[in-house]
Amino acid sequence: MARVETFYEVLRRHGVSRRSFMKFCSLTAASLGLAPAFAQNVAHAMETRPRVPVIWLHGMECTCCSESFIRSAHPLAKDVVLSMLSLDYHNTLMASAGHQAEAILDETRAKYKGQYILAVEGNSSLSLDDPYCFVGGKPFLAQLQEMAQDSMAVIAWGSCASWGCVQAAKPNPSNAVPIDRVIHNKPIIKVPGCPPIAEVMTGVVSYVLTFGKLPELDRQGRPKMFYSQRIHDKCYRRPHFDAGQFVEAWDDAGARQGFCLYKMGCRGPTTYNACSTTRWNGGVSFPIESGHGCIGCSENDFWDNGPFYERLVKVSGFGIEGTADDLGLKALGVVGVGLAAHAAASTVKKLVTGHNKPPPPAGKAGGAS
Ligand code: SF4
Ligand code: SF4
Repeated sequence: MARVETFYEVLRRHGVSRRSFMKFCSLTAASLGLAPAFAQNVAHAMETRPRVPVIWLHGMECTCCSESFIRSAHPLAKDVVLSMLSLDYHNTLMASAGHQAEAILDETRAKYKGQYILAVEGNSSLSLDDPYCFVGGKPFLAQLQEMAQDSMAVIAWGSCASWGCVQAAKPNPSNAVPIDRVIHNKPIIKVPGCPPIAEVMTGVVSYVLTFGKLPELDRQGRPKMFYSQRIHDKCYRRPHFDAGQFVEAWDDAGARQGFCLYKMGCRGPTTYNACSTTRWNGGVSFPIESGHGCIGCSENDFWDNGPFYERLVKVSGFGIEGTADDLGLKALGVVGVGLAAHAAASTVKKLVTGHNKPPPPAGKAGGAS
């Protein structure tokens, strides 16, 4: 079996100092939600574990997952892309092209049998007979199944690979399906989002490298460390939701005061993602902080669960205090009724008490202005 360089050996070969290496280990531990003391464990893993070869396939997609990934600020994307991973094949990032590029797939498959991670961005049609998405002269579905066969595990990047996303939205003319419909014999880590958050993507890879195993997944195959809470749970506008203070129209007084966007269709109460904790663009902000409700981009069938600007009472979901594992166990439609009742009760309470001033926000001031 081929010996693969360790992450530390690669870094040293690139002239990275021991001091910088330890700083990187501290950042990685922090991104995984580990205590500072775990930096030593991360360092040990990096010094001893082989660098993970990664094959990154692109099916039917828009490349937004790659765009997100290379913008990771923590840990630095250049460290991840150039050192942590042996990114042997990636349509957008690799230098090779044509037959040379396609040969890399065969080489990696033979040389690192059972050792490489197959990262998949986008999805495929259900059948080899569907005339959509050809790569190197053959259906993407064939390439996907061949490369999955000898992989260690598969990462489904984004909502396309995880759920189907816009390609699979009604009427789904290209017969697009999520990859777990066509890969059945490998563990699949779903990292949904349109796109997923960069730090979530690098965090998943960091975890696999550091601990040599897959992260704990929920019933839907998502890493619990990033997908166990709803946007609503940690939303800085939550005090306004609880106080019955809602935006009723774009640019109304409530919008200018940063009130809750639930009545404007916000899907935060039924969406599991790390946006309200990790935020985007290096932790700068996230959509709700800009005054727009969550559209639930990390949830299954989110394109068909619209219209986006109608409140949740008109869409299916699950209990407001439920967990990700409850999905599918609760009666559809319960959340909408529960949320509407909560919103109505809060509004009545506000009218009865005459309390109509906003409470101080839990986090930053409202982003809508
Ligand atoms: S803006 Fe959305 S996520 Fe935030 S509190 Fe309101 S409903 Fe919940
Ligand atoms: S706030 Fe909602 S729609 Fe926006 S990126 Fe996060 S999960 Fe997707």
